[in-house]
Amino acid sequence: MKIFGSKELTQNVIEKDLCIGCGACMDLCPYFASHKGKIANLFACSLEQGRCYAFCPKVATDLEDLSLKIHGTSSDGHPLGHFRSIKISKAGPAANSGNFQCGGTVSALMAFGLKKGTLDAAVLTDREGVLPVPKLVTHPDEVYGCSGSKYTSAPTVSAVNRGIKQGYKKIGMVGTPCQVLASAKMRSNPMNDGAFADPFALVIGLFCTWALDFRKFEPFISEIAAAEDIIKIDIPPPPAEIMEIHTRHGKIEIPLEKVRQLVPETCGICPDMTSEFADISVGVLEGRPEYNTLIIRSQRGEEMVHEAVKEGFLVLEAMPEESLDHLILAAGNKKKRAVNSER
Ligand SMILES: Cc1cc2nc3c(=O)[nH]c(=O)nc-3n(C[C@H](O)[C@H](O)[C@H](O)COP(=O)(O)OP(=O)(O)OC[C@H]3O[C@@H](n4cnc5c(N)ncnc54)[C@H](O)[C@@H]3O)c2cc1C
Ligand code: SF4
Ligand code: SF4
Repeated sequence: MKIFGSKELTQNVIEKDLCIGCGACMDLCPYFASHKGKIANLFACSLEQGRCYAFCPKVATDLEDLSLKIHGTSSDGHPLGHFRSIKISKAGPAANSGNFQCGGTVSALMAFGLKKGTLDAAVLTDREGVLPVPKLVTHPDEVYGCSGSKYTSAPTVSAVNRGIKQGYKKIGMVGTPCQVLASAKMRSNPMNDGAFADPFALVIGLFCTWALDFRKFEPFISEIAAAEDIIKIDIPPPPAEIMEIHTRHGKIEIPLEKVRQLVPETCGICPDMTSEFADISVGVLEGRPEYNTLIIRSQRGEEMVHEAVKEGFLVLEAMPEESLDHLILAAGNKKKRAVNSER
């Protein structure tokens, strides 16, 4: 695929409302900035080709070529992408307790990676009020402070660009499928840089059906609860059809049909539900909120899981057949919706 520069990125993605605000084009140069989830090109740049364009998950991407480069195998068209095994998991006794979204698999693996030295930094998403904020951490204990899902899209990948500038060489990143696609494009060395070395030692992808537009979510949620009172936000799996806001004063339930109005259109053309280009993908497990669904995709992901189990950071069980069928159906439906979208 042809790579252009920041002018084309602005025209073809940002001005067409295709940008999800992943942050991959930020902190490469001073020209792109994020304000409350909105990415802006502050100055014109005359380069005909740029990393900003090359890393963007919303420009045309040869997914087959990327699959060969990242997974070393052709994409076989399975709704879950390439994988080695699928399990269910939760944080083990050696992990700290935290305000986990589900079983704490993601936090436990990232903390374990930093403790073992497999990772020298971890790129996570914290929050200030309800605003999701990218965070680069280096100590295992800092990981648990970023636990929990922030259901608005975040410029998380910008912290990878910062980390590379700061000299980190074994970065772990947790991201949504679009952020993981950006990381895979970075890993494929699209600018053919002769001195390139893959900066990622582990990419953990989250499952994602959609994220919310922060500029719409902030006024919406401020009518319902004060940001400083919110402890956790959750979307239980179907058929619940609600968003739960857990506050210091109790739980508030919002019908999901109201929340869906805050989803940006660009999520409607996104075909990936399970972060197909990650080393490990993690999501909710229907009916058992204290567990996660865990998809192991790469050899290094498999090794990390194996080590984490051995040292008590992770507990694994077999994936129930019925849950696997539901997962495959949901991932396939997301692809169909994306393909049939009118955008
Ligand atoms: C926007 C969004 C949509 C999701 N949709 C689904 C879905 O449809 N189906 C499903 O099964 N699971 C979905 N998930 C994943 C699910 O909510 C849990 O994150 C996942 O099951 C991991 O649980 P855990 O207990 O291991 O996470 P924890 O150990 O609590 O860790 C959560 C991690 O998520 C990261 N994170 C939080 N918010 C964001 C964000 N906005 N962008 C990038 N990273 C973030 C944090 O850095 C943290 O490391 C979604 C998550 C997000 C952020
Ligand atoms: S790289 Fe991410 S933030 Fe930048 S234009 Fe593309 S989608 Fe938007
Ligand atoms: S639906 Fe796709 S584009 Fe939207 S936040 Fe999730 S991964 Fe990103």
